[in-house]
Amino acid sequence: MNGFKNNYCLKNLNSFGVNAKSKFFKSFSSENDLVEIMSSKTFEENKILILGGGSNILFTKNFDGLILQNKINLISIIDEDDLTTTVEVGGGVNWHDFVLWSVNRNLSGIENLALIPGSVGASPVQNIGAYGMEVKDTITKVHTFDIAQGTKKIFNNKQCKFNYRDSIFKSELKNKKVITKVEFKLSKTALNIISYGNIEKELKKDPSPMNIAELIIKIRQQKLPDPIKIGNSGSFFKNPVISLLKFKKIKKKFPEIISYKVTENKIKIAAGWLIEDSGLKGHREGDAGVHKNQALVLVNHGKSTGKEILSLSNMIKDVIFKKYDVMLETEVNII
Ligand SMILES: Cc1cc2nc3c(=O)[nH]c(=O)nc-3n(C[C@H](O)[C@H](O)[C@H](O)COP(=O)(O)OP(=O)(O)OC[C@H]3O[C@@H](n4cnc5c(N)ncnc54)[C@H](O)[C@@H]3O)c2cc1C
Repeated sequence: MNGFKNNYCLKNLNSFGVNAKSKFFKSFSSENDLVEIMSSKTFEENKILILGGGSNILFTKNFDGLILQNKINLISIIDEDDLTTTVEVGGGVNWHDFVLWSVNRNLSGIENLALIPGSVGASPVQNIGAYGMEVKDTITKVHTFDIAQGTKKIFNNKQCKFNYRDSIFKSELKNKKVITKVEFKLSKTALNIISYGNIEKELKKDPSPMNIAELIIKIRQQKLPDPIKIGNSGSFFKNPVISLLKFKKIKKKFPEIISYKVTENKIKIAAGWLIEDSGLKGHREGDAGVHKNQALVLVNHGKSTGKEILSLSNMIKDVIFKKYDVMLETEVNII
C-alpha cells in the first residue's frame, strides 16, 4: 500500500507543540482503510501508535515506528426510544463537535464535557471527565481492531473497565487496540448535573443541555490556557486518591488542603493545590513551565522539548512526594 509519509513532523499534531517526528505516518478514514493498512509491510514491520488529536500525549523523542491517525468521521443515530437516542460516532470526529451535535438536538449526557480537546476515539481511553460528568456514563459500546491480530472486537461498557481517568485501553490494552467507533446512549430528558463548582450559581438560564454547554465553554475559555496560544495538555497529573487515614494525617499538617470524598474510606486530593502550595505555580525551567494560573497544567512557553517537560514533571513529583508523602501519577501519555 502506498501513501505512508516518511519522517513526518508531529509539531502540529500535539497540543504541547513540541518538535518530534514519526518514522512513518498515515491517517485512515474508514475501517476498510485500516484493514488495508494492516495488510501492508510497513504496518507489519513497525511498532504502531494510534493518534487522535494529540491533546493528551507528550512526545519526548522521535517515534521510531508508524503513527496511524484516526479520521473516521461519521455520526449516525442507530436506535431510539421515548427516553434515549443511541448514536454511533467515528473515532475521528472531533469531541467538541460531537458535544455540539448532541446539545443542538437537546440530547443530554455529554454537555458538561464541552470544549474538551481531542477525538471521540480517544474519549474512552482515559474516560474523559469534567464538571461532574464522565464519558463512561453514556458509552455503551467501543468498537476496536486488534493491532497484532487484526481481529474486530466490540467492548460493552463493563468490559471497558472504566475508572477515574482510566480504562482497559489505557492499562492492560494500551497500544493494543485501535478504537474505530464509539456508541453513546444519550438522554432525551436533561440530566441537569450542575452541582459541581459554581455552575449552579452562574447558570442564569434554565438547565438545558445547550445552556449548560454554553456556560461550561465560557468557564473553560476563562480558566484554561488555549493550546493554540501556549502549548499544553490540560491536567498533566491525576488528582491522587488516598486512604482516609492518610488524608487525616496530611490534613493535620496542611489544614487548607482541597479534597473531595470518593467513598467512605477514599479521598481525592487536588493535585493542583499540592503543586501551588509547594510554591511551584508559575515555576519555569527554560521554556518548560507550570502555568501561572493553573498549577496542574504544564506548558511549553515556546521552544521546550518533550524531554524538558518530562524532567520538570519529575522534579514536581519529587517535591510533592517529599513534602506530602503522596506520589503524583501522570495523566498525559508519555511517548
Ligand atoms: C486544554 C486542554 C484541556 C483538557 N481538559 C480535559 C478535561 O477537562 N478532561 C479530560 O478528561 N481531559 C482533558 N484534556 C485531555 C484530552 O483532551 C483528552 O484526554 C482527550 O480525550 C485526548 O484526545 P486526543 O484525540 O487528542 O487523544 P491523543 O492525545 O491523540 O491520544 C491520547 C491517548 O489515546 C490513544 N488513542 C487516541 N485515539 C485512539 C484510538 N482511536 N484508538 C486507540 N487509542 C487511541 C493514544 O495512543 C494516546 O495513548 C485536556 C487537554 C487539553 C489540551
